[in-house]
Formats: sequence, structure tokens, C-alpha cells
Amino acid sequence: MTLDARPIRTGADSADSADSTDSAASAAGAVADGLPATMRAARFDTAAGTLKVEDVPVPRPGAGEVVVKVAACGICQSDLSQLDGHIPPRLPVVTPGHEASGVVAAVGDGAGHWKAGDRVVLGAGKACGTCPACRFGGGTNTCEDLQVMAFHYDGAWAEYVLTDATTLIAVPDSVPLEHAAVLADAVSTPYGAIDTAQLRSAESVGVWGLGGLGTHLVQLTRVCGASPIVALDPLPAARERALALGADFALDPTDGYTKARLKEITGGKGLDVAFDCVGRTPSFTQAERALGHRGRLVLVGISPDPLAVGPELHFVRNRHTVIGHTGYRMEHLEDLVELTARGRLDISGSVSAILPLEEVNEGIRRLREREGNPIRILLRP
Ligand SMILES: [Zn+2]
Ligand SMILES: [Zn+2]
Repeated sequence: MTLDARPIRTGADSADSADSTDSAASAAGAVADGLPATMRAARFDTAAGTLKVEDVPVPRPGAGEVVVKVAACGICQSDLSQLDGHIPPRLPVVTPGHEASGVVAAVGDGAGHWKAGDRVVLGAGKACGTCPACRFGGGTNTCEDLQVMAFHYDGAWAEYVLTDATTLIAVPDSVPLEHAAVLADAVSTPYGAIDTAQLRSAESVGVWGLGGLGTHLVQLTRVCGASPIVALDPLPAARERALALGADFALDPTDGYTKARLKEITGGKGLDVAFDCVGRTPSFTQAERALGHRGRLVLVGISPDPLAVGPELHFVRNRHTVIGHTGYRMEHLEDLVELTARGRLDISGSVSAILPLEEVNEGIRRLREREGNPIRILLRP
């Protein structure tokens, strides 16, 4: 048990009571709030570059906070970016995992609208409380310095996770908690991108890159009424999957015929909306050139590549828009729970594997090596 293993707390704190609770817990093995004293958690030591599952204290909720018993938590590409050092560390030691669902285990003062046993999915960010947007009454959706779970504070590759009550969305019994975990980020980020694109029904859509984000974009644009939907990926298996999930056409963007095929598919007009989930120069360039009049290109994928739009005259005359997109708002997550609960959206095919927390490093290996072309590998603590 190290100082670094202590949970990050926010706002009006309860550090004093938590300290006394922890020591009482150590003596008794369990405490009055029903939470155990310690739990298993995957801890990433940013200096050493190691990830180990170890015993740490179970966090206690402060004012406005809730402790959730984690049911499932995804392994995301951005977790790998943190583990590989591509995202600068915020904390010396942190519990990764920001795509989580679970059951409310303990509730702090002022969070009484939640109760033990409530099924929930967690939004991955909370308002900083100090930026201009927060000072003028904003919240998670407008904060300019969003505190991101698993980066600024401990995430959910653990048996329990401490979070702000404002980051929870209720999950009805009809939605499996494993599916709810996938909704957080893996589905909500592409859903947010559709909002960013201001997609209308019957608009044509192209989706470049059919990993987790792109595959969900195909499903979601279908739910939102896009027509036709064109999925683009060099991998035949990814194209087959996209066709099975609602794409009208699936193209290999490297075969030299993409531009002509897209023109033909859209009746010569070009795409209304292009989503680039790859973010590399070739996919961006191809997607931007495929836009029709008033076409919008939304960049969802992340890479260090330089990006340039085509001839200025063409871009301006056709009133093209290029927009960057990241993350999602809490109402996006709530929409997705509703769509899943009503059977409009089926993401059962997105759960590629469920591993026990102790096998977190095996899950990371499978994602890194793209073994079996996984959409989401989940951990079940
Ligand atoms: Zn993620
Ligand atoms: Zn803020």
C-alpha cells in the first residue's frame, strides 16, 4: 500500500474521514459502508513503465462522489498510448481504464440520487471546476480542461472505481453491463462525431478505417438514417464485418478505383459526410477529395501526420468543411443506452473477449497485435 495508490479526490473533500475509515477497515477487514478495505487494481508506474495487478485501498466517496463496483472495463487504444508513453503522464502511478460499467457500491454526501445497487455506465471525464467555462456555470460538457479518467484520476481496471456523481448514466436491466462498457467511448465517441458532422438522414457517408471507431460509425450512421453508407478499409475481414453491420458498399481504399467508385455510388455528387478514423495523410487526402458540394470531413483518428486540403479553389467553391472531433458528451452516452435498450442498436458483436483483471497484460498484447481483429476486449475485475 503506497501513497501513490491513494485515489485522487475532488471538490469538498473527505480525506480526514477517509483516513480514519481506512485504518478502521484495516483493523476490521470491512467497514460500515459495506466496502472492503482493499481491492485488486492494475497499477501503471509511469517512470518504470510497468503495469501490475496489486492490492490497493478501496476508495471512499467524498462529497458529490460515488464508488462503483466495476462490472466490465474496456481496453482502448488510448490506454495503450498512455502505457507506451505517447500520452505524457499526469500521475506517477495510475489505474488505467476509462470505458467502464458497474453497480453503485457507496454514495457520498450530495449524491443521494444514486443508491447502492444502481446499474451504471461511467462517462470518462469530469469538469475541472476552475476553467472559465466551469467558473461561469458550465460542467463536463463545456469544461476547457476536462479531467480524464485513467489519466488525471484513477480509472477502472480495478474492482472499484471512485467517480463524480455527474459522470454516471443509469443502465436498465435490458442492457448487459458488458455492452454498457463498450458504449463508453468506443461507441459514444463515433456517435459524438455524427453530431459534429451534423449528419441528416439520407445523406451519403464514407467511413475510412474499420477498427472499433469505424465499425461503430457504420452501425450508428445506419441508425441515424444515412444513405448510402460506404465503408473503406484494406482488410477484407473488416470490410465483410462492415457489410454485415449495415454498410451498403465496402471498398478497398488502396486498389486505385476508390475515387471512381465513390463518384458512381453517389450518382456523381460526391459524399455529403466523410469520417476519417485513420487520421493518416492518405486516408485524409482521399476522404477530402471524395466530398461533394457542402461536404463535411470529420477527423476522428489520431496521428502525427501533416494534413493538407486539396486545391484551394476546389475547397472554397464547394464550401467544404474539415472538423476535428474527440470525445463525447454525457447526453450522447444517455442516447446510446436508450438506443441499445430499445433494440435499435446491437453491439453484442463488439465484445471480442472478456478477460479477468489478472490477465490485463494478455488483453493488452491481443489488442497491440490485433489478434483476431478485436473491436473491444473487456476486463472483468
Ligand atoms: Zn477509449
Ligand atoms: Zn473546467
